[in-house]
Amino acid sequence: MVEASSVTGQKYISLETFELHLEFLERSKINQVRLIGGEPTLHPKFSKLIDRAEQTGKHIVVFTNGIMPGSALQRLSHLPLDACTILVNTSASRPDGKLSKEESEKQRRTIFELGSRVVLGFNISRLKFDLEPLIQLIEDANCRKEIRLGLAQPQSTGQNCYLHPKQYPAAGRKIVGAARLASDLGIFFSFDCGFVRCMFSEEDLNFLRSVNTDIGWRCNPILDITLDGKAIHCYPLGEGCQLQVTEEVNAAELRQELAKKFAYLRPAGIYPECSTCAYKESGECTGGCLGGVTRRLRRSSVQITVPDREVLEA
Ligand code: SF4
Repeated sequence: MVEASSVTGQKYISLETFELHLEFLERSKINQVRLIGGEPTLHPKFSKLIDRAEQTGKHIVVFTNGIMPGSALQRLSHLPLDACTILVNTSASRPDGKLSKEESEKQRRTIFELGSRVVLGFNISRLKFDLEPLIQLIEDANCRKEIRLGLAQPQSTGQNCYLHPKQYPAAGRKIVGAARLASDLGIFFSFDCGFVRCMFSEEDLNFLRSVNTDIGWRCNPILDITLDGKAIHCYPLGEGCQLQVTEEVNAAELRQELAKKFAYLRPAGIYPECSTCAYKESGECTGGCLGGVTRRLRRSSVQITVPDREVLEA
């Protein structure tokens, strides 16, 4: 994913750097151009970025909170339906709280205007969440019949709002409840990375499979490219390792290198019991997000038990 604007929205990718990233996608044989931020639609030359992305013939994916300038909305509304996916994060909030009424209305207008170009996304960061309004919104705005679910993960500081792994099974049950309602309307859920197998009972999992849920227990290098041209595993692990994207390197090589850098964390998981879990041993579950693993290991204390003298001498 190519970062088009920083998280603060103050810095933007230059058109020259964007060209280099398009060349990188080409030599990596990646057929999508994914724009992420911050908020990519705030880029002052957003329409030009879309023009260039469209000229490559690749599928355009924009990750947005939907609160975009009119010019960006207009440009996206002219993209052919099958040429783009506009992933609107409906759980977007401000660091100081929820979206204002005006921002929520703007987000809603974007969703209605872009209609079937839109996939609604929801990032679960606390246990109190309700997916039902999204189901209705898809119907009303004629969006694609998919809801992309994410699990908010801890950043290295742990200061952000994220779902604690102990809450995963309860979140899993809520997802299944919403999936029952959604499936009646032909709407399915898809899972972003970080979901784990033991969030769901066998019965619930069978149900999710029966209603075409795109299930995955993944934690792989997504390969985000930052504004200063560095490839990172993903945002939660962004500070752990950054590799320069040179004019020779391709995505497969960078992914391999990043996977190697974090391989030492793989035997662990988000729970202590992951190390001995049969799902992990068989490769079915990766043990959750490595950002969560890093957080767990950082907090745990090392305990060494010294046997009694008699035991040692026996
Ligand atoms: S590896 Fe860990 S997270 Fe995955 S199913 Fe096993 S215990 Fe759960």
